[in-house]
Amino acid sequence: DRRDGLGVYTADPYAYDRVLFNNENAVIIQDMFPKSSVHLLVLPKSDRNLLHPFEAFEDPQLLADIKLEVERAKQMVASELRRKYGQFSKSEQARIQARDADDPPEVLPEGRDWAKEIITGVHAVPSMNHLHVHVMSRDMVNDCLKRSAHYNSFQTSFLVPLDKFPLAKDDPVRRIGHGPWHTVDLVCWRCKENFGNRVTKLKAHLAEEHDQWKRE
Ligand code: 5GP
Ligand code: ZN
Repeated sequence: DRRDGLGVYTADPYAYDRVLFNNENAVIIQDMFPKSSVHLLVLPKSDRNLLHPFEAFEDPQLLADIKLEVERAKQMVASELRRKYGQFSKSEQARIQARDADDPPEVLPEGRDWAKEIITGVHAVPSMNHLHVHVMSRDMVNDCLKRSAHYNSFQTSFLVPLDKFPLAKDDPVRRIGHGPWHTVDLVCWRCKENFGNRVTKLKAHLAEEHDQWKRE
């Protein structure tokens, strides 16, 4: 089954170049069809990893373990963003200048906080069977983003952050997957411009936003 495609990474982590990190709790991999410029997945190694995320994360130990690995993945995405875009970023320039000065200060300016540019969570209705948490830059610029559902599944409440778990029995999050999330308008995450259902227009706009965003 195509939906079982994520199982191989936890079963045999050393066989795949996409696996960036591996420990007893999880593997961290590159998404094969990334929807942002940096898009990783955290795959828990747990006997609960074929349960729906809402059910899997009823286990407090699993939830706590995976939150740690999601933090690790966030740091990985942040350093990748710094590597890719640090050279363009105004707030990084002070740091780079100080670092490369003849007499660098003992404490460098902090530079840009790339962790603020990252979104994380599980889809309310995942398409892949093995438990996975998305950790990605917020830009939504990638050739693999083709359909409006690709965009809206990450830019609406369909993406559920781990701090929502465990869900109460009557938590409205449980109903998100049945809602109209995939027909809602395409709205730019950065300037809130509404593109209706015009995904090509949105993509052209996101590329412009990306150019501004990396310069912040
Ligand atoms: P979901 O919609 O289930 O939350 O997301 C599944 C994710 O897995 C998608 O972002 C998709 O691009 C990614 N994906 C699907 N098949 C594979 C695969 O075989 N390998 C990897 N690394 N990622 C995959
Ligand atoms: Zn915009």
